[in-house]
Amino acid sequence: MNNKLYSPLIFEKSHKGRKGYSLPDYDYGVEFELPSSLRRHTAPVLPEVDEPTVVRHYTNSSTNNFGVDSGFYPLGSCTMKYNPKVNEAMVDVANVANLHPLQPAATAAGALEIYHSLASALCRIGGMAEFTLNPFAGAHGEYTGLMVIRSYHLDRGDETRTKVLVPDSAHGTNPASAAMAGFDIVEVKSLADGTIDVDDLVSKLDNTVAALMMTNPNTIGMFEHSIPRIAEAVHAVGALLYYDGANLNPMLGVARPGDMGFDVMHINLHKTFSTPHGGGGPGAGPVGVRDGLGKYLPNPRVVRGADGLLDVVFDDTACGRMGAWLGNFTVYIKALAYILTMGDEGLAMAGKLATLNANYIMNSLKSLYELPVAGPCKHEFVFDGLKDKSTGVTTMNVAKALLDRGFHAPTIYFPLLFHESLMIEPTETESRETLDSFIAAMADIALTASDNPQAVKDAPLNTPVVHPDEDEAALNPIVTYKELCAK
Ligand SMILES: *Cc1c(COP(=O)(O)O)cnc(C)c1O
Repeated sequence: MNNKLYSPLIFEKSHKGRKGYSLPDYDYGVEFELPSSLRRHTAPVLPEVDEPTVVRHYTNSSTNNFGVDSGFYPLGSCTMKYNPKVNEAMVDVANVANLHPLQPAATAAGALEIYHSLASALCRIGGMAEFTLNPFAGAHGEYTGLMVIRSYHLDRGDETRTKVLVPDSAHGTNPASAAMAGFDIVEVKSLADGTIDVDDLVSKLDNTVAALMMTNPNTIGMFEHSIPRIAEAVHAVGALLYYDGANLNPMLGVARPGDMGFDVMHINLHKTFSTPHGGGGPGAGPVGVRDGLGKYLPNPRVVRGADGLLDVVFDDTACGRMGAWLGNFTVYIKALAYILTMGDEGLAMAGKLATLNANYIMNSLKSLYELPVAGPCKHEFVFDGLKDKSTGVTTMNVAKALLDRGFHAPTIYFPLLFHESLMIEPTETESRETLDSFIAAMADIALTASDNPQAVKDAPLNTPVVHPDEDEAALNPIVTYKELCAK
């Protein structure tokens, strides 16, 4: 590693015999001897440090991180937006924080009301008849939705449907989920403007197709204007239409997948509905279905009985079970709090602002960056590297130069439709000033690239780790202190 500034590990700050604690003497008179089978034979290798060193080490290490609470994070296809702190506070309320999944449903009526209220709100937002909240992530929701689709076809005695169609611009989880659910994947081509090639789609539709998976707006932020024609063609061969609603921001209060003809959809609560993400969880990928498909949703289900009370039930028609219980409950609380505090008007404003902000950045920078598909876009858009192709400055260089200027990089080299993809999603939560400062940084990088390309290629210079060997870091990461010592 040729790191300019590399903060030492806590082990490197260790001094033999140094202590950060003091325990009172043991003076109860009785001695307990642990059985030797339970005792270790060599002392653990632990850092020996004083208390201020421990506190400073971890406090300083924590500031080496970059998060949406520390700066702008325009990561395309990811919706890294600011999440209101009041929704986190809701999760701490003792009577939900102390719930146990094994307690009888009758003693958790409030929690079941939260589940049911959120499912109903998502039905209204997505234009669906029923929702399960159980899946733990977007990809898990896709898998669940495909299992629902499989159950629907098999229940009709239709066993010929072995294929799932996936556009070439799709998020990688789409083909992965379809494969997990046991389907063969057939790719559908995109047109030059990034939308689905409907002729190619139609040529691949027949009675062996179980479903078409779509993202709309698609991964390059374009709304699929042919969606009525697509829905008609898919349904005409008896297949279903699946909606990847991971990034629902621009649709909030503007358009509903159910109204566009989609039969099954998932939503990422950890992108659109106020759960911070990026650290690996917890998340939730609720799945909604149109009328008639509800009976295939996974167990367990929350349903209202004749007595008006909610209960947890198991049904034989379900496509299976996606987890032990009813999913990641704290994520539901945050999502419901977000939906209720925003109100219908607030949600519709979020959808429009997500679109406005993306178009503002796109139009402000399109003279300096190559825009392969002209707008207007929805919540995100893709540049294909710098407009000035003579500089030799790559998208990777631009991304790293942004780090020096205090911004998280956009998504790079995805989608694969373009060589130098820079996929930018500003989200609705950023101020005009933040957007302007990002535009200024991007413009500065582009102008520097034309004047002095090497200066951009040398970036980053100001980050804790500067130029790791990317291949080596991916293939042989050093993840323990021992390995580092061995180097
Ligand atoms: C994020 C995302 C997913 C996957 O969601 P996970 O929760 O990461 O599994 C699927 N599709 C699209 C379009 C996404 O942006």
